[in-house]
Parts: sequence; structure tokens; C-alpha cells
Amino acid sequence: MKPAPFEYHAPRTLDEVLARLRQAGGEAKLLAGGQSLVPAMNLRLARPQVLIDLGRVSELDYIREANGHLAVGALVHQRAAERSDAVRRDVPLLARALPFIGHPAIRNRGTIGGSLAHADPAAELPAVATALDADLVIAGPGGQRVAKPSEFFVSYFTTSLQPDEVLVEVRLPRATSSMRSAFVEISRRHGDFAIVGVALSVDLDSGRRCRAARVAIVGVGPGPVRAVQAERCLEGQVASEALFREAGQIAAKEIDPPSDIHATSHYRRRLTAVLLEDAGRQVLGPSA
Ligand SMILES: Cc1cc2nc3c(=O)[nH]c(=O)nc-3n(C[C@H](O)[C@H](O)[C@H](O)COP(=O)(O)OP(=O)(O)OC[C@H]3O[C@@H](n4cnc5c(N)ncnc54)[C@H](O)[C@@H]3O)c2cc1C
Repeated sequence: MKPAPFEYHAPRTLDEVLARLRQAGGEAKLLAGGQSLVPAMNLRLARPQVLIDLGRVSELDYIREANGHLAVGALVHQRAAERSDAVRRDVPLLARALPFIGHPAIRNRGTIGGSLAHADPAAELPAVATALDADLVIAGPGGQRVAKPSEFFVSYFTTSLQPDEVLVEVRLPRATSSMRSAFVEISRRHGDFAIVGVALSVDLDSGRRCRAARVAIVGVGPGPVRAVQAERCLEGQVASEALFREAGQIAAKEIDPPSDIHATSHYRRRLTAVLLEDAGRQVLGPSA
């Protein structure tokens, strides 16, 4: 199918994008990589009257090291982030999660900001942002604001972004030498969205005692779901396979996953337990 007719703009600066959004009075959609929006438009699930293409706004395409965090511009392609030495070194959890997104051809077009703004409940990047407690930098008519993942991800495909706002940057804390992370997921075929995925980030002292833990799960709720009780089970304890098994079982109990055509709620709980245990095994290994 072809999309419904729309007006197309290709501004070159963020200021121009914001001005266009204002003029459109809530009837515009931003186009980033188009990997989610274009199929939705072709199926006429989305019928924006105005399309504002971010593709030429080069000021949103950067990866910058800053004090304590790595700043990734919204327009950075997922494949570019995956290939970035800075990402691999400073935010290994992001580097581990990116290859799970579709296939290279999709990641060549799909952007970091587009995935976060799209907020698919099975998407990997919202879980990474949640596990790392990233800062999401948003530009709007009144200037910039910063949102935490807990306020940014509102529900299925819904964020706290207003129709006149643009996600401009995600700030991801740089991993210290004591931090370990893992991303694991199960999907029906390689490249499919996850049935369940687990992002794990832990800070282990020299005796492997867990100083801090963050667990974010995808595919089990309207957005990335933090397993807070599982995190509590890990914190203060010496990390071991048995401890991660226990945390996995706790996580499975504290979530309330939906049943759908892909999996039952019960199966998603079981997967969560197994995947958190698996993620734990990975962080105990030499390459985490
Ligand atoms: C076959 C296939 C398989 C896929 N598999 C996966 C997968 O396994 N995991 C996964 O996570 N994704 C998957 N995707 C989706 C892919 O990651 C998309 O790239 C992503 O969901 C959206 O990014 P985009 O840059 O393409 O955004 P677009 O499709 O251009 O936009 C998506 C939405 O975000 C809004 N938006 C985009 N950028 C901004 C911004 N800077 N500020 C505010 N709003 C913005 C748009 O207006 C639109 O509503 C798949 C896609 C395909 C086609």
C-alpha cells in the first residue's frame, strides 16, 4: 500500500525543525530512519499530514565523550553506534544490545533516537536506557529538558514527548572498570523483536560483591520493566550463578507479562527467569 498524502519538509537545523513542528500544530511526524514510521504509513496506521525529515540535521549526528557520560545524538544510526569504539569502550551494554535490532540493513537506517522515541515494548534500546538510567535530552519550544527513562517511557509506543518536541540526545553513563553488563533475548528468529529480553548492569567490587544492580526487561509490559525486587536480591551479595538464578526467579514473580499470539504470560515469566540467570552467567565470565 502507499501512504496517505502528506506535506514533506527537509530542514537542515534543529531550530528549523522546531519551527516546522510549531507551524504544523500537532499534525506533523518526525522522520528519522523510517524503519518503523514508513511501514506504519504504508499500512496507513499512521497518517501524518506533515512529515519533517531529520535526515539533513547533521547537528544531531554525533557521539561525544563527556564528563561521566557518553552523549549520543538522536540521529546516530544504530549501525554506526554498534561500530563505534567509544560505545564499545564506554557503554558496553549498548554495544551488546545493538546487534539484536533487526538486521544490519535495518540498523544502517534506524537511529538511536528513533528507536527510543518509537518506544516499542519489545525494543532493545529502551531497556538499555532504563538499565543505565540514561538521561534523555529533549528540545522543545521553551528550550531543553532532560527526562529519565521512568518518566520518558509512558506506555506501549507512547513517550512523554510532546507533539512539538524532539529527542535530541541520550546521555549514557560511562562504565567504570568494576561494572559488568549483559544483554540477552529470545526471539522466534534472529532479527525478530524479542519475545523477552533482559538488560543487566552490575557494579561488582574486587570480591565480586554486588554494589549496585539494574535489571530491565523487554517484552513483558507496556515498556521496559525494571525488576526492582531482583535488583534488591543482588545488591550487597557476592555474585554467583546461584544468586542470579534466585534473582531470575524473583524477577519472574514480580512482573506481570501479557499473553499474545507470540507467547503466554506463563512462558514469558519462565523466559525472564532463565534469561536473567543467563545474563548473570555472562557477567561472571571474562568478557563482560
Ligand atoms: C524488519 C524490521 C525488524 C526490526 N527489528 C527490530 C528489533 O528487533 N528491535 C528494535 O528495537 N527495532 C526493530 N526494528 C525497528 C528499528 O529499530 C527502527 O529503526 C526503530 O524502531 C525506529 O527508528 P527509526 O530511526 O527508523 O525511526 P522512524 O521510523 O523514522 O520513527 C519512529 C518514530 O519515532 C519518532 N521519532 C524519530 N526520531 C525522533 C526524534 N529524534 N525525536 C522525536 N521523535 C522521533 C517518529 O516520528 C516516529 O513516530 C525493526 C524494523 C524492521 C523494519
